[in-house]
Amino acid sequence: MTEHEPTIFDQIIAGNIPCHRVYEDEHVFAFLDINPLSVGHVLVIPKERAAQLHLLSDDAAAALGRVLPRLCRAVLKTTGSEAYNVLQNNGADAHQAVFHVHFHIIPKLPKGPGLGLQWTTQELEGGEDLAAAITANIEES
Ligand code: AMP
Repeated sequence: MTEHEPTIFDQIIAGNIPCHRVYEDEHVFAFLDINPLSVGHVLVIPKERAAQLHLLSDDAAAALGRVLPRLCRAVLKTTGSEAYNVLQNNGADAHQAVFHVHFHIIPKLPKGPGLGLQWTTQELEGGEDLAAAITANIEES
C-alpha cells in the first residue's frame, strides 16, 4: 500500500459507495462507521488522499481541526453521551485497516459500549534528551 493508493474511502467521497453521510465541506467528509463500537461512531476524513496523519498537508489538517470539535458536539448532543474518544490509527501495527487518514469519534455511555483501552504505562526515562530530540526533528511548516 503506497501513500497515495486509492481506498474505499475515496470511493465513498466520490459517491460510488453508499454511506450515511453526516457532514461535508470542501476539504472534509464525515459518515457513520459501518461497524460502530457504539451508537454514533463517526469517521471524519480529509478529502485529500493521504494514508497516514504525518503525510497530510497543513491545509487539510487545518480543515479537519476546524470541524472536529463541532462534529464531536453534534455526536454528543445526538447520543446524550458526555464522554467520548477521538481515535486516529496509523499503520497496521497500530490497528489501521483503511489507509486513508480518518478520525474516529466514539461516544461512551456510562457502563455502555465504546472504545476498550489497555493503557500499560512505564516510567519516563531520559525525558530531557528525548524532548530535545523530538523538538529538533520538528520541520518548519
Ligand atoms: P481503522 O482500523 O482505524 O483503519 O478503522 C477503519 C474503520 O473504517 C473501521 O472502523 C471500519 O468499520 C470502517 N469502515 C470500513 N469500511 C467502511 C465503509 N464502507 N463505511 C463505513 N465505515 C467503514
